[in-house]
Amino acid sequence: MMFIGLTGGIGSGKTTVAQFFKALGVPVYNSDNEAKKLMETSHKVKTGIKNLLGEEAYSGQRLNKTYVSQRVFNNRPLLQKLNGIVHPAVRSHFLAWAKKQNAPYVIQEAAIIFEIGSEDFYDKIILVTAPETLRIDRIMERDPDSTPERIQARMRNQWSDSQKIALSDYIIENCDLAETESQVLQLHRSLLAEA
Ligand code: ATP
Repeated sequence: MMFIGLTGGIGSGKTTVAQFFKALGVPVYNSDNEAKKLMETSHKVKTGIKNLLGEEAYSGQRLNKTYVSQRVFNNRPLLQKLNGIVHPAVRSHFLAWAKKQNAPYVIQEAAIIFEIGSEDFYDKIILVTAPETLRIDRIMERDPDSTPERIQARMRNQWSDSQKIALSDYIIENCDLAETESQVLQLHRSLLAEA
């Protein structure tokens, strides 16, 4: 079974692309959703986060997202420590999930792959791209409370597309939805041929 990483900057359309693969019967693991769940269900992860950020990181069983993001935003060493707790847990959860799938390849969707140096884990990496202005418009539409400045600040925390393009195996340009869908179909056929 091949492991395919699916990544892209915020608002590029990772989840949209993932849905097209799912519709073709490809098992997709959403790392961001699973990480959020593990932060509230895994005893090991919770203890690690409390030790790193203090008891205030949780309100009862729930992660105090605002507090956690405020603590790690613009604090790279602390963010790296948090990633060092969450990512290994996601990795083992993904591996257990992948074992249960019966398919020539599975996709792991993750906002950050290169940023955490996990590119060697995958057989192939798909990068979703879109012009920055389009990405900002999409996020503003999805989340009317956000501002272009805040979105750009989050973008600056991720690698640029040109850095990621150089290290990716396949690029999906997600502007027109129908074109994106046909790029997915074409890529699905090549991946099946390779698997
Ligand atoms: P994030 O990392 O912020 O979660 P993402 O990369 O997973 O984002 P999506 O959630 O797929 O991106 O897309 C962001 C928003 O843009 C969604 O509301 C989605 O419906 C919309 N969108 C994505 N692709 C297109 C497209 N080609 N045309 C129009 N709207 C799109």
